[in-house]
Amino acid sequence: MITGSYDAIVVGAGIVGAACAATLAGDGHRVLVIDASFAAGGATAAGMGHLVVMDDSPEQLALTAYSSQLWRELAAELSAAAEYERRGTIWIADGDSQLAMLQAKKRVYERAGIACELLDDRALADAEPFLRPGLAGGLLVPSDAVVYQPIATLYLLRLARARGAMLREGCRVDAVIPRGVRLRGGDVLLADVIINAAGAEASALVPALPVIPRKGHLAITDRYPGLCSHQIVELGYLASAHAMTTESVAFNLQPRATGQVLIGSSRELVGWDASPNPRIARLMLARARHFMPALATASVLRMWTGFRPATPDKLPLIGRWGGEATPDLWIAAGHEGLGITMALGTAHLIADLIAGRETAIDAAPYAPSRVGSFPVARAAS
Ligand SMILES: Cc1cc2nc3c(=O)[nH]c(=O)nc-3n(C[C@H](O)[C@H](O)[C@H](O)COP(=O)(O)OP(=O)(O)OC[C@H]3O[C@@H](n4cnc5c(N)ncnc54)[C@H](O)[C@@H]3O)c2cc1C
Repeated sequence: MITGSYDAIVVGAGIVGAACAATLAGDGHRVLVIDASFAAGGATAAGMGHLVVMDDSPEQLALTAYSSQLWRELAAELSAAAEYERRGTIWIADGDSQLAMLQAKKRVYERAGIACELLDDRALADAEPFLRPGLAGGLLVPSDAVVYQPIATLYLLRLARARGAMLREGCRVDAVIPRGVRLRGGDVLLADVIINAAGAEASALVPALPVIPRKGHLAITDRYPGLCSHQIVELGYLASAHAMTTESVAFNLQPRATGQVLIGSSRELVGWDASPNPRIARLMLARARHFMPALATASVLRMWTGFRPATPDKLPLIGRWGGEATPDLWIAAGHEGLGITMALGTAHLIADLIAGRETAIDAAPYAPSRVGSFPVARAAS
């Protein structure tokens, strides 16, 4: 039975769906957001909230830089509870051999107009006194930020609703059909455009999408104000994120406004098995102590897992899916470990493409049509 009709239906109320809803509603579309569970759950609840310009590829750099700029513009609207803080990132070199990599990274950022500063061993120790002595140096990117992403997501949804959008939680979309969706239970909702923003579950609705869950652990400590002041990431993090190995860990530390410290991170390909993996957790915490010995006496209060929506080429899928059966279907999914950073840029690309406007950055590299060239990866069951 047809029970409603909208300009746009966004499937998924994670940070990507919320951002799409706010932007589309801002364009005057009558938007419905549907979530099988609840808003700001999913990967969004599990993430770290690091808003980071990342340079694994020129396309990744373009979208993270664009989105980071949009976050800076949004920051003034966010409440204090969203804990947006311009902390800056320090990428650290473990050994002289990584210094050349830091210099190369600096050149890439500078070419992209992103201010950054090389820190020698002394300057690094001054900036982060609790890091292990003897580290070779660091690259400070001052414009990077952190945010408490569940609150930011709820803000985007509030913004969408203020612009006329509606939200239905606890409501699963079972199928995308021509000009609409079919809900669990059989009801049908119609829309001019449907946006699949279902995160790591995006491929359940569109099986040809090569989006798979990539599990990650995070830990949070008790309050230790001053233990670190910047987001600190080992240079090896990029390699850990890039290589689709079955498991990896990399040191990634984030100061929270509460004085707590978030410790990450791990990557595993284990399908949808959300259970904590004590071996991986031990490796992740040992890696953190390797870089910051003071963490050995820190009390870890809680640890959890979540699923990054991963694609084979490490870029999200943003744009029209099309196809004969579902010409009105659009995709905004597959952001892996950068979905919080990239959410705002994604939403603007989607809205501009739907409106036929020029996009601020070239949208072609993110077009879902490229999946035809991928070997189809599937999650272990
Ligand atoms: C450990 C970890 C650390 C991370 N750290 C960072 C970080 O520091 N910075 C960063 O930028 N990113 C980070 N990420 C990545 C980021 O969290 C994700 O890329 C982002 O949250 C994806 O958002 P999303 O809206 O696409 O998906 P989700 O947040 O998963 O939302 C998708 C929503 O769709 C709903 N849904 C699914 N299927 C259906 C259906 N059939 N019908 C209705 N609803 C459906 C789900 O219930 C869910 O709420 C991290 C991720 C992890 C796991």
